[in-house]
Amino acid sequence: MTRCSGCGAPDSCEELFHVVLALDHSRRPPWGPLHGVTVSCFLLQHPDRLPAHDRARPWATLHTYLDGGLAAVTRLTAGLRRANARRGLADVVARVPVAPLGEAPTAFAVTIVDVAVDGTFPAEGFPDRVEAWAAATVTAWRA
Ligand SMILES: [Zn+2]
Repeated sequence: MTRCSGCGAPDSCEELFHVVLALDHSRRPPWGPLHGVTVSCFLLQHPDRLPAHDRARPWATLHTYLDGGLAAVTRLTAGLRRANARRGLADVVARVPVAPLGEAPTAFAVTIVDVAVDGTFPAEGFPDRVEAWAAATVTAWRA
């Protein structure tokens, strides 16, 4: 059995990421509204896809979600959009903890495989599984 070098899950998680992205893009709840959180979790569990200086946004998104829930993420996203227009991204993320720049973790207590359950990302309990995924991602980076 091969393991993903990013998240350590026993299967290739790339395929699952495409499944959840398709659900996100349907814009239906519970997937659509959690799109930013889902992508942030996946990127921070596969940081090879992400230059170190681009970790600030997903890191800010996960902290904001864990602290203030979806409403807070929506405000952050709107703030980032305005900041991007003014090139002021640093101001927006200045209030959240600094993104970790050290060595990436290679194992997480919760991965996309857990969130997918049977591979279909069932709506039932999806927000709870995403929250656990976000918490496990932040915990592993802080260890
Ligand atoms: Zn993976």
